[in-house]
Amino acid sequence: MGETEQFKQWVKESGNIVFFGGAGVSTESGIPDFRSVDGLYHQQYDYPPETIISHSFYKKNPEEFYRFYKERMIFKDAKPNAAHRALAKWEEQGKLRAVITQNIDGLHQAAGSKEVLELHGSVHRNYCSRCKKFYSLEEILAMDGVPRCGCGGIIKPDVVLYEEGLDQGILQKAISYIRHADLLIIGGTSLVVYPAAGLINYYQGHKLVIVNKTVTPVDHQADLVVSGKIGTVFSQLLDCGE
Ligand code: NAD
Repeated sequence: MGETEQFKQWVKESGNIVFFGGAGVSTESGIPDFRSVDGLYHQQYDYPPETIISHSFYKKNPEEFYRFYKERMIFKDAKPNAAHRALAKWEEQGKLRAVITQNIDGLHQAAGSKEVLELHGSVHRNYCSRCKKFYSLEEILAMDGVPRCGCGGIIKPDVVLYEEGLDQGILQKAISYIRHADLLIIGGTSLVVYPAAGLINYYQGHKLVIVNKTVTPVDHQADLVVSGKIGTVFSQLLDCGE
């Protein structure tokens, strides 16, 4: 049996799938990842992207942060691809329990997924740092430069920047889903960003599938490695629950 056939078989049999993904899940929706050759980390800016999207840089240079953030990290017309759609469908069919994502783009929810644990937050939620008033993505994009609340405070995206910690409640929930999963699918992530990358170690089952375009540091731990573009691979699995 080929890798995709084996993968399909496991999805068909499973009633407790958990998916853990990263930026590679959305590249086929037109959002660049960080570490691929055409990703953000290989493009030239005044400062390295890791520096710009850090907490200290945001505090010191909010103008520069927002210029980069709005130009390079917001893709408001992006649409879900076959990977997002298959995961939403499996949840609706009662096969999938949760999607755990490092992405901040909201495309899993746009595809219809309900239980989405966003480890790194979302561009769709923004709060005034002074009075905590909520702002949508559209509202902050409509403001020139650094978005400001009516009270004068700077509005910050609800996105986990470098140097900031993860929400412990979300992390614990993610660990619990992974611990109890029968099929754990990891896709579109280089698995180098911690603590998110360490989540894989909580899995206790024997069906760990990695779907990625390039090799990852944990391929040797997987029961099945499917190399390729995740949208293309998942488009062959859309009918698994029928
Ligand atoms: P990464 O850039 O480090 O790695 C992406 C991985 O996905 C690479 O291994 C690459 O080979 C693979 N990949 C790319 N396109 C693919 C495809 N079509 N099919 C299968 N594999 C594909 O991303 P990461 O591991 O998620 O970690 C970096 C951080 O980037 C995360 O914390 C995340 O918050 C942030 N990020 C998010 C978005 C988004 O929300 N869409 C975009 C860029 C970066």
